[in-house]
Amino acid sequence: MTESVYIAMLRRCTSLTELASLRQLHCNILKTGLDSDLRSRISLMVSYRKCSEMDSALNFFNEVRHVQDVISWTAMISGYLQNGGREKAVNLFCLMNREGIRPNHFTYSAILTAHPIVSVFQVHAQVIRLNYEKAPAVGTALLDAYTKLRAAYEAKKVFEVIEVKDIVAWSAMVAAFAQVGDADGAAKVFVQMGKEGVRPNEFTFSSAINACASPSATNVLGKQFHSSSIKHGYSDSSCVSTSLVTMYAKRGNIESASEVFISRTDRDLVSWNSMISGYARHGYGEKAIEVFHEMLDKGLQMDNITFIGVITACAHAGLVEKGERYFEMMVEKASPTMEHYSCMVNLYSRAGMLDKALNVINGMPFAADATIWRILLAGCRNQLNLEMGKFAAKKLISLDPGDSAAYVLQSNMYAAAGKWEEKDGVRKMMDEKKVKKEAGYSWVEVNHRRYRFMAGDHSHPLSNSIYLKLEEICDRVKEAGYVADTSFVLHDVELQTKEVMLSQHSERLAIAFALLATPAGMCIQIAKNLRVCGDCHAFIKLISDIENREIVVRDTVRFHHFKDGVCSCGDYW
Ligand code: ZN
Ligand code: ZN
Repeated sequence: MTESVYIAMLRRCTSLTELASLRQLHCNILKTGLDSDLRSRISLMVSYRKCSEMDSALNFFNEVRHVQDVISWTAMISGYLQNGGREKAVNLFCLMNREGIRPNHFTYSAILTAHPIVSVFQVHAQVIRLNYEKAPAVGTALLDAYTKLRAAYEAKKVFEVIEVKDIVAWSAMVAAFAQVGDADGAAKVFVQMGKEGVRPNEFTFSSAINACASPSATNVLGKQFHSSSIKHGYSDSSCVSTSLVTMYAKRGNIESASEVFISRTDRDLVSWNSMISGYARHGYGEKAIEVFHEMLDKGLQMDNITFIGVITACAHAGLVEKGERYFEMMVEKASPTMEHYSCMVNLYSRAGMLDKALNVINGMPFAADATIWRILLAGCRNQLNLEMGKFAAKKLISLDPGDSAAYVLQSNMYAAAGKWEEKDGVRKMMDEKKVKKEAGYSWVEVNHRRYRFMAGDHSHPLSNSIYLKLEEICDRVKEAGYVADTSFVLHDVELQTKEVMLSQHSERLAIAFALLATPAGMCIQIAKNLRVCGDCHAFIKLISDIENREIVVRDTVRFHHFKDGVCSCGDYW
């Protein structure tokens, strides 16, 4: 056969399925001695690349690269990127620069996906130098890379420079804000996009809705994007409905999440997981388990997140045996991660089975992390197991010396057990190590605006009325039998001062404000950056009863639905 025939046959080898015929052809070419021919080598290089055999392709590429142009270099780089060879792709990119081949916009948009191996800042500097930053493909690739770095500000700067912004660039900008949880930023880009006459697509909606899952977003914004997606005919798209389910579940609107979820026939794994963890966080353990069993019955694929969700549901609902069963089920499929072990420690700790929790830790194939020791310490605090608590705190402090929870929980524990000397010791240690407790904030939404309160906050214009209202409720809950649990105050001050400090915790100020500013009977939604303390929990239960209001508090661990004097967590949190 002649060289041209071989080349024509090589051209037909364009995918992995033809790799065997390609190797056969390669052998034949070797036998005929045509392999030393430049055209044959180039054809072999291209075919190996198309068949995803990158290392073989690279061998030929190195022999012929003196005659290769930017297109061929870029194809090699992209080939490695698509086949999991990011480091080799970056090496080729550097070699290309050293050999004086000028990258083009395709090269840049490809190599930027190799972050973090390639430095986004360095590539960006080069892009600016060669004047490619206005090219939509390069700009969008830079934007994506900055998004992955959670650098929304850099992303915005890149976005503004892009000359012709297509829908991909607009969507990427919305996604950049979603990534950092800046719903207002995402909404602004969305509005701007409409003004410039660009129609959003399902990815724009999906990103915008994802942004609304952030605790700093108002409830109404997520709903607006939902109805807007219906108007644009995208509510049926699977990425939009997945975002809706996740957003509603994270925001505490589990009913809307479930409505969207039920309306879908093509639910993906993310939606299923969102429903399970959503129900788990709300304390609807049985419902989470129901969804999990529906997945089992349907024989659907599950991942780590599914199991973390269902075991967490069992932990919050005190269903120890079920949690154990699901853990065993998971171990059959995959080896458990740190997160799974921490779920089990949580399951046992919450149920007061501290010895079992410690057994899990001792039986783990790797050393427990700070989160696991923190969970065990919290369990010891609730059970007043001082000895194990001290041990857990020591481990926690050795792993994370600045963790205020280690000291706070220990101090609570000693105070609740009446061990004042030990409690003082913890406080002294905290002072010596200069550990600061993270400032607690609460947010409440009134008339589509969010208001932030910190403990003892006087910055609100209605501050005087808020404190008066708080005093009034305080008197009423005391009549209903409330006694402040001052063990939640760390500072060494007079008892009366402790009571005052507790009474000014941020969530109480937020609730007092909401009671003043919203009509009777309306549900109050609070978000918190820390865990709600035990004293506030008892206090809010009583307010929900005497004010006849449903109060939902979303803290870092879960949702608490307070109604008629009880909480959905069943005091399990
Ligand atoms: Zn509190
Ligand atoms: Zn609760």
